[in-house]
Amino acid sequence: MSQRKKIKALLESTETNVEITVKGWVRSFRNNQFIALNDGSTNNTLQVVVDFENTDAALLKRITTGAAISATGLLVESMGKGQRVELKAKEIEILGDCDPESYPLQLKNRPSLEFLREIAHLRFRTNTFGAIFRVRNSLSFAIHQFFQERGFVYLHTPIITASDAEGAGETFHVTNFDLANPPKTDTGEIDFSEDFFARPTNLTVSGQLEGELGAMALSDIYTFGPTFRAENSNTTRHLAEFWMIEPEMAFYDLNDNMDLAEALLKYVIKYALDKNADDLAFLSQRLAEEEKQKPQQDRSEMSLIEKLEFCLNNDFERLTYTEAINILKESTPNKKKKFQYLVEGWGTDLQSEHERYLVEKHFKKPVILTDYPKAIKAFYMRQNEPDANGNETVRAMDILFPGIGEIVGGSQREERLDRLEKRMDEMGIPKEELWWYLDTRRFGACPHAGFGLGFERLVLFVTGMGNIRDVIPFPRFPKNAEF
Ligand code: ATP
Ligand code: MN
Repeated sequence: MSQRKKIKALLESTETNVEITVKGWVRSFRNNQFIALNDGSTNNTLQVVVDFENTDAALLKRITTGAAISATGLLVESMGKGQRVELKAKEIEILGDCDPESYPLQLKNRPSLEFLREIAHLRFRTNTFGAIFRVRNSLSFAIHQFFQERGFVYLHTPIITASDAEGAGETFHVTNFDLANPPKTDTGEIDFSEDFFARPTNLTVSGQLEGELGAMALSDIYTFGPTFRAENSNTTRHLAEFWMIEPEMAFYDLNDNMDLAEALLKYVIKYALDKNADDLAFLSQRLAEEEKQKPQQDRSEMSLIEKLEFCLNNDFERLTYTEAINILKESTPNKKKKFQYLVEGWGTDLQSEHERYLVEKHFKKPVILTDYPKAIKAFYMRQNEPDANGNETVRAMDILFPGIGEIVGGSQREERLDRLEKRMDEMGIPKEELWWYLDTRRFGACPHAGFGLGFERLVLFVTGMGNIRDVIPFPRFPKNAEF
């Protein structure tokens, strides 16, 4: 009995003239003789050579694109171009037929990414999506490895919460009520005391607040889980359900925080470059072809692989929000009124066109912006003393990446109870609901910091894809929850 071998291992091995069995899906079948077989272990296919003269015609007809087959035979050196080994099949078994009339993935007509999104259940079978999801897998493993090597504790924060971490209000409600007939109070309002948790609850928008609680005893923790935002933003950078990595570290200040985030990003990109060289070479080629469709001035100067290596080999540019505003005010697109939102004064939030200008045109590398105006950031960020102009800022940091914009958002956290409570009052955040969060500032508070890395934005950057809906298996976005 020969055991099944994965195609990736076969293509890498030097052994020949051994009998083996492979199983996979037919990518193409040429001249009634050459099967290109793929089993998802790599983008590359194994050539299976069929002895068609001695094979039943009925069976040959069933070797169609998409069919699942098992092939047993001798692994031999290949005479053909482009492959070192091939399988001389002695026996072929059809495990699952695939009707060529109705199978939507025929090689002849290259399907568009939009079309593939509609058949997300089958798109794993294309080279592009095979590569994307193997890279996604590596990145997620590398993230755990990075933190585990540094003694961080993987903490599972709740998916159902009663808090809206940012106070932004873009949450999905969780309820057991019969929506047509929820219990009402005497005054006619919905009576949440009757609901499953006896209070209004929602899907988490961030594990940060609970993460901080863990860090206040375990020192260094990270979360890596799904987060949900009911923001009605139909962009190529937002999903309603996405995965986030949120480390929180006791005794870290903002500089330590930035160092960790930069080291993490470089580590995982390096890991993917090493581990997924074939897949990234394929995706780089794919992107190069896509770039050719663009007008010259919009084309990227670097290939995907070059961009990733550039990111590894250069320090991220660190500057304050105030310095960034000054650069933007003096910039050509601002002076020529080419920005949709002109940069006039200090204090406004940066639009993605401004972030992209800084990263792609001015510095031409990843940028970390720090010390944002207090008014545009969350309540838990550590407050700086007002500057000479009286401007009030917080110890925030956003990491901006080429083509992506914000990939990381983080800060040193406000550990001083009086400052924190005052800020919550100013921003209308109910202190009584967050009593447990405030307790950490009462009992052994210490300087600490953390950040959130949007996992799909990372996958987007590393794969060079243009739409976040293409880097998660089954994207959730407004008006879509298919599959
Ligand atoms: P943005 O301004 O791009 O909407 P944000 O300020 O809302 O981002 P944070 O609340 O700081 O983002 O979340 C931390 C990280 O999570 C972001 O840096 C980003 O990488 C990612 N992220 C945020 N919202 C989404 C989303 N809807 N879909 C995918 N990733 C997201
Ligand atoms: Mn947002």
